[in-house]
Amino acid sequence: MHWSMHIALALGPLLAVALVFLIANMILRRTGGYAPDWQFRCSKCNRTRDAAEAGVVRIGAASVGKRVLGYCSGCHQFRLIRLERKASPPAALG
Ligand SMILES: [Zn+2]
Repeated sequence: MHWSMHIALALGPLLAVALVFLIANMILRRTGGYAPDWQFRCSKCNRTRDAAEAGVVRIGAASVGKRVLGYCSGCHQFRLIRLERKASPPAALG
């Protein structure tokens, strides 16, 4: 077998995984998988933070009562953070 075939066989699966990951990432971003209309609200100081900005992938069944333990940059402490929908959804959805 030619040496270039060995390289192709070795790198093929890696490239495929990378490609699938990139495509899934693109789809998630397009479909709002990164929770653009959700925000965190600190239960103590009421400080809100954009869920998408915080780099949160949509929290589904993992959160109980839409409450998670998170670090509040307002209190500088770990607080019970409520995950809630933003009051005014973005006007343009296209
Ligand atoms: Zn706080």
